[in-house]
Amino acid sequence: MKKNKILLAIADGLGDRPVECLGGKTPLEYAKKPTLDAIASNGSSGIMDLYKMGTPVGTDLGHMLLFGYEYSDYPGRGPIEAFGEGLELQAGDVAFRANFATVDAEFSVVDRRAGRIRNKTVELAAALNGMQIEDVTVIFKEATEHRAVLILRGPGLSQEISDTDPKIEGVKYKEAKAKDANPAAEKTARILNQFLLNANEILLGHLVNKEREARGEMPANFILTRGAGIMPNLRKTADDLKIKAACVAAESTVLGVARLAGIKPLTDSRFTGNMDTDIVLKAKTAVEALKENDFVVLHFKSTDLMGHDNDPEGKVKAVEIFDDMLSHVIKGIESMEDNIIVALGSDHSTPCERREHSGDPVPVVISGKNIRKDDVTTYDEIAAAKGGLNRISANMFFNYLMDYLEATKKKGN
Ligand SMILES: [Zn+2]
Repeated sequence: MKKNKILLAIADGLGDRPVECLGGKTPLEYAKKPTLDAIASNGSSGIMDLYKMGTPVGTDLGHMLLFGYEYSDYPGRGPIEAFGEGLELQAGDVAFRANFATVDAEFSVVDRRAGRIRNKTVELAAALNGMQIEDVTVIFKEATEHRAVLILRGPGLSQEISDTDPKIEGVKYKEAKAKDANPAAEKTARILNQFLLNANEILLGHLVNKEREARGEMPANFILTRGAGIMPNLRKTADDLKIKAACVAAESTVLGVARLAGIKPLTDSRFTGNMDTDIVLKAKTAVEALKENDFVVLHFKSTDLMGHDNDPEGKVKAVEIFDDMLSHVIKGIESMEDNIIVALGSDHSTPCERREHSGDPVPVVISGKNIRKDDVTTYDEIAAAKGGLNRISANMFFNYLMDYLEATKKKGN
């Protein structure tokens, strides 16, 4: 018997509202998208609320919900960024988003981004990584440009501490303070404050900074932190369901949530979050991954960016590129031995007029030979609402997909 496998294609921020310059259609309704329409014609459509009806969610939480987690599992930005940078957190680790910054001798912030430093942050991060403070180990890793991730690993830590980033320049950095009377919060604040001072001392004398100053550039001599989050004892949903899964994406947030869920991240420098992403290579990578995996996620970003830019024509174009990517996927899976179910979804709406995420539901499809067919023949927000999946949550959508993989346990006898 043929084995069911699933390709889930996610167009980030896809959902929209009627746009005047598109004749009152949404960008998705307006776009030419023969492949997406064919997928919708061959299955069941519906509209999906990621979390609660009318509640906007971020890309990180949206993907967690799409990968089978609950809202209560959300660990905060720090841990998700850390996973996005390829670090595996352990339960009890406290993770922060961090910036390389420039301070003067009085610790007043001159530049929160250290002159938007781009080069040699690997070396600076390496000089901080592994530092021991009391019984806590510091894990520090550079991210893109001036960004970095800080993890404190040790017993009795808490996320209930304040940000050290003052968010403005010309003032002293903020010392971390405990937000509650718990000794764990006080310990974490004390260790973080000590780390900031130690880091300053190490960075001040670092060759990379000497070279920067010699060139007239700002030295990256301080670390600012925000978004403390403690890693909960989270199950990896893919391991829990005993499925093999992979995620093809460019965006580190999405790759991070995938890693968190036990879904293997697959990326390449030719994958970008923009229109210029290599869709042929992405499609090929996804099709290849279907040979080894039961569940493959294929993420596409630029639909969301066009919404944030309030660029309806750009969003139409992004949808057409997404459609083109899917046409390569469909060609690739035609000759495969297994039965590939194609699902379409999104992590939230980003209406152009809003320039931000909204709580509007997103259109979804589950499509394939063995999927019930409804009367919906196009993929858009309006048509999908008339489909057989009706209105569902991201958790229900994930449950359906997992049931097609026969990964969901039967209840009762
Ligand atoms: Zn998103």
